[in-house]
Amino acid sequence: MRRKRISKKTREKFKKTIRNVIGDLSREVLVYKKPAIHECPNCFYDKLTSCSTGKCKWTPVEAMDKQNGWEAAGNASVRYKYFLKGRCPVCNGKGYLETQRRRWINAMVIWNPGSRIAGNDGVYVPSGSDGTTTVELKVHPKHYDLMKDCIRLMVDGIECKLSRPPLLRGLGNESVLIITAYTSHKFDKTDGDVIKEY
Ligand SMILES: [Zn+2]
Repeated sequence: MRRKRISKKTREKFKKTIRNVIGDLSREVLVYKKPAIHECPNCFYDKLTSCSTGKCKWTPVEAMDKQNGWEAAGNASVRYKYFLKGRCPVCNGKGYLETQRRRWINAMVIWNPGSRIAGNDGVYVPSGSDGTTTVELKVHPKHYDLMKDCIRLMVDGIECKLSRPPLLRGLGNESVLIITAYTSHKFDKTDGDVIKEY
């Protein structure tokens, strides 16, 4: 294996150096994971139709008790609310609740990396021809699982999508995680409608 030619010491040194660089030059980037999905606490879920059955799990008194307990535990949201039938007021008839999961991580941020490499344009730009902007992030490899589940990112206040799966790079294949993402935020007329290849 190629890896054997490089001494362990060199490898460690390289790893340390590149991580220090990430540490020094990085800024915080917000990573959104796939939302967690929980069955609605207030109504019965219908597996056949994949939505709410429109039936409350509780009697009016039970619902009130449960909600009081929920609020006493320090929560502000409405989780238990009696309804006779129809659309559940907690999940709006979906039958489940989504919890947004997001996390700040440190990343070295390079906007438009392709443009810096002469003669190499297009390598990083899967959709560059239609007015999108590419961003490359270098992050600690410990974020691999998080990045695999990432559905979108906020980089310098701009929303981005991953354009390909995260890549482990570096000596020993474990030194740094490369994330390539793109945005059409700055150029797009209709915000929120940027997904093309995802
Ligand atoms: Zn519900």
